[in-house]
Amino acid sequence: MNQTRQGIATRCAHTGTRRSVPGGNAPFQPAIVQSTIFDLGTSADAEAIFSGARPGFAYSRFGNPTVELLAEAIAELEGGAGALVTSSGNAAVLCAIVAALEDRTGPLVTHADVYGGSFELAQILATVCRVSVETIDPADTNAWQAAVARAGAVLLETPSNPLMRLIDLEETVAAARKGGAPVIVDNTVATPFNQNPVSTGADWIVHSTTKYLNGHSDMIGGCVVKREPLTPKNRRIHKNLGGTVNAFDAWLVLRGLRTFALRMEAHNRNGQAVAAWLAQHPAVARVYYAGDPRHPQAALFQRQMRHGGALLSFELKGGADAATRFIDRLRLVVHAVSLGGMESLVVRPAMSSHRGMPPEVRQRAGVFDSLIRLSVGVETLEDLLADLDQALTSG
Ligand code: PLP
Repeated sequence: MNQTRQGIATRCAHTGTRRSVPGGNAPFQPAIVQSTIFDLGTSADAEAIFSGARPGFAYSRFGNPTVELLAEAIAELEGGAGALVTSSGNAAVLCAIVAALEDRTGPLVTHADVYGGSFELAQILATVCRVSVETIDPADTNAWQAAVARAGAVLLETPSNPLMRLIDLEETVAAARKGGAPVIVDNTVATPFNQNPVSTGADWIVHSTTKYLNGHSDMIGGCVVKREPLTPKNRRIHKNLGGTVNAFDAWLVLRGLRTFALRMEAHNRNGQAVAAWLAQHPAVARVYYAGDPRHPQAALFQRQMRHGGALLSFELKGGADAATRFIDRLRLVVHAVSLGGMESLVVRPAMSSHRGMPPEVRQRAGVFDSLIRLSVGVETLEDLLADLDQALTSG
């Protein structure tokens, strides 16, 4: 038998399919098991299921067959040993932080230019749960590595959203090993198509499946992947935090995954082309794109990522006022939060995703009011450039 691992497009096209059902030949598409409860059988059967002696389901917050298929699919894509599916990306970040910090002392070390919701979540954990949180600038390599070496756990995002700054995963993991801190990487922006943090030794990978993994802007969800096998303690945290997903939303992500590789090829192609086009446009002051050959961390990009993806940010020479005019003139590109859908989306992070950050922290992080973030979709490139151009130059 050919043991070679199949290509990502092949694996995606078949993910979750042809699972047998009792008493029949397998449906090609996975079943949506829309049931809260499961027949536990005899008392002996119930005991075997609850004790873990035998696989089985009891209650859909604890586990559900459709949701399990999605967990397997994402774990496989990321190269992890197991995964837990959540009801949102934020629920995934929370679940990973709690699981990583369990049995550990030391602070949660993170950086200011993470997704605004993760930043706010860390603040809530600090104020309500008295978790010690240290926000360090990874560009100060010595300070970052020293903090990581004495951390309880590390939460990072590379490329960061919205500034597309990179963090060296190998160096961070090596520093974390000194004190044993688990490293959590939010891989939502890069996606497993463009970067696999598990291969650098990262312990937990989190996703907002709302974005590229589902790809259709029609559900909210998340996922936590673990490099090593999940423990009963990890599962206990997941089910009791309560942010589990329903079978239909899990099925939507499974369906989205079938075209994930195809979509990512189109996203990557358009992302690279739009970034290059914006960089030479006379109205544009600066472009932030991980795959830009002039990115200050281009050497790290070459080592760590396969492609720069389709999320980028930019500033206009006319500043915040020009940004307002530009957004209001767009016709094809949608003014909306989120990213990773097939449609191109534009937003100003300072007014939306990063609004909850204190303004001085936002300024220090570089998320200025003039910053525009563009999630490049899979539209025909010429249509996209024509819309951007008319919005940049008209009036
Ligand atoms: N992580 C990143 C990088 C994000 O961009 C987002 C949302 O935009 C999240 C996590 C949170 O995901 P969700 O909105 O699905 O909770």
